[in-house]
Amino acid sequence: MKKDTALLYDTTCRDGAQMQGIQFSAQDKLAIAQTLDRFGIDYIELGWPGANPVDDKVFEQLASHPLQKSKWVAFGATCKPGIDAKEDPQLSALLNSGAPVVTLVAKSSTFHIEKILETTVTENIRMITDSVAHCKSRGKEVWLDAEHFFDGFKSDASVSMQCLKAAVDAGVDGVVLCDTNGGTLPSKVSEVVAFVKRQLNCAVGIHAHNDCELAVANALAAIESGASMVQGTINGYGERCGNTNLISLIPTLQLKLEQFDERNIDLKKLTELSRVVASRSNKMFDAFAPYVGDSAFAHKAGLHASAMHKHRQSYEHIDPELVGNHRKILVSNQAGRSNLKQKVEALNCTVDNLPSALSLIKQKEACGYQFEEGDASLALLLKRMDEHYVSPFAVQEFSVTTSSRASRSISSTLTRSLGNASADLLHHAAIKVMVAEQSFWSAAEGNGPVEAIDKALKASLNHQWPELHQIELTDYKVRILDPESATAATTHVWIESKFRENVWQTIGCSTSIIDASRQALCDSLEYFIQHFVTGEFVTGKCVTAKTTRQALNHSGLDSGGSGSDSEKSGESEFTDEYNDFTTRNSKTKGASNGDQAA
Ligand SMILES: [Zn+2]
Repeated sequence: MKKDTALLYDTTCRDGAQMQGIQFSAQDKLAIAQTLDRFGIDYIELGWPGANPVDDKVFEQLASHPLQKSKWVAFGATCKPGIDAKEDPQLSALLNSGAPVVTLVAKSSTFHIEKILETTVTENIRMITDSVAHCKSRGKEVWLDAEHFFDGFKSDASVSMQCLKAAVDAGVDGVVLCDTNGGTLPSKVSEVVAFVKRQLNCAVGIHAHNDCELAVANALAAIESGASMVQGTINGYGERCGNTNLISLIPTLQLKLEQFDERNIDLKKLTELSRVVASRSNKMFDAFAPYVGDSAFAHKAGLHASAMHKHRQSYEHIDPELVGNHRKILVSNQAGRSNLKQKVEALNCTVDNLPSALSLIKQKEACGYQFEEGDASLALLLKRMDEHYVSPFAVQEFSVTTSSRASRSISSTLTRSLGNASADLLHHAAIKVMVAEQSFWSAAEGNGPVEAIDKALKASLNHQWPELHQIELTDYKVRILDPESATAATTHVWIESKFRENVWQTIGCSTSIIDASRQALCDSLEYFIQHFVTGEFVTGKCVTAKTTRQALNHSGLDSGGSGSDSEKSGESEFTDEYNDFTTRNSKTKGASNGDQAA
């Protein structure tokens, strides 16, 4: 039997904004609201009208450009003790915001009424009655957030219920039971929600916090006990440990409890929604997030990958495409042949001897390389196993120096004159590269040693592949693998590079951070040349740009952006550029330039 569907109420722009480190601009809130509107959220709470200029601007904008489907909500408190609702300026700001829905937060626990608000139960009930009736008289849909309801119910159920009944008698559209401190267990939530549903002839909602990592479980418990509205945030952002994570809750409701069948929830946009809001919140995207994380459908153990090859459901609870995510087969020291076979196919490589490739990967991983993070380095490793493969270039020597602006030695003068203070440093790199049996020297300066190497490397290769300058270094991460070895520790470097909409990752590993960075940079440039210029990666010989492009997409290394139009429009442009590359390269190959200094 299907249950009634629960209304979805998002408070990312209000409660989510209360999370440490989140600071939304008006543009951020409006962009999030529009994304939620398109996704199919029923209610979107934007903030406190009258509380700050950002929220005022948001409500002003929405009043003139309302959302398409979602109802937008103004949030505020009931009138203050001793003040008539009609005279309360904060309530006036709510009513004048233009929002069709108003949510009023009210005290519902004796402790908070008497000790925090410092008033009486009778006055608190008067404030609720007066505020709800006033907002209803102005034609608003009104919800009451009963703050600390579960804690209040536990210590004095009769007062908590009187608060709810006051709102119902005043005409409220629904009451929301809040587990404000996030300490209630699902069994208790079920019990209390069922009790309230029996007592009140009114819609009941749930607002849960995640202090015990139970907010989603508590929301589900409430819905299964009769709650018809759930409040939450995207990615679970919110005060302290956050709120009910709608990104986890929504697919669970739809796919496990068969809710929203008749509704217009675009579940295939779930992963995108999560990432858009993470980006707007300036938060790192959680790779391990259920349903939408990079690792949510990543298979590492050899046994798992082998089973997945036979039956896709063997280690997945849903098809990742249902939520807009995708499956990943990882290759690591825990991988079996099945992992590698599937990975080789995904990378569009060919490997003659799978066992020896697997053995080489495991040897490298034992030394610290982590190929599950660097598909492009893995593809190169496999390619280099082919005795006929020729690397487009090889670094023969390189050096990196760091000095102060006054060209003084860091180890001597700086430590004396600057102590531990940061100095105005200069970084220089010199590199000797062999290309087509010719050596090229170049030197460059950078803001850091890695940028200096990157510039010097590209300068050495510029005569052959000037397009290398179009590669952007978009991310760089360093991890110390054996910190107990202190300054002699092994360093793992991960680099993400970008060319137009295509993104690829490479790795390096060494006891020197500079050398590990150099390896990852060289892999990045070699991958670019072989993938975009020569087409070596696809069939071992030059192929059409279209084929190269297809291979790139199949390998999963493209950005996966939703802009299919831009992808199509970029294709012919890419083909022209590719033809230019190959024509020029066929002319320049084998040119005898001798040793040069760039
Ligand atoms: Zn809250």
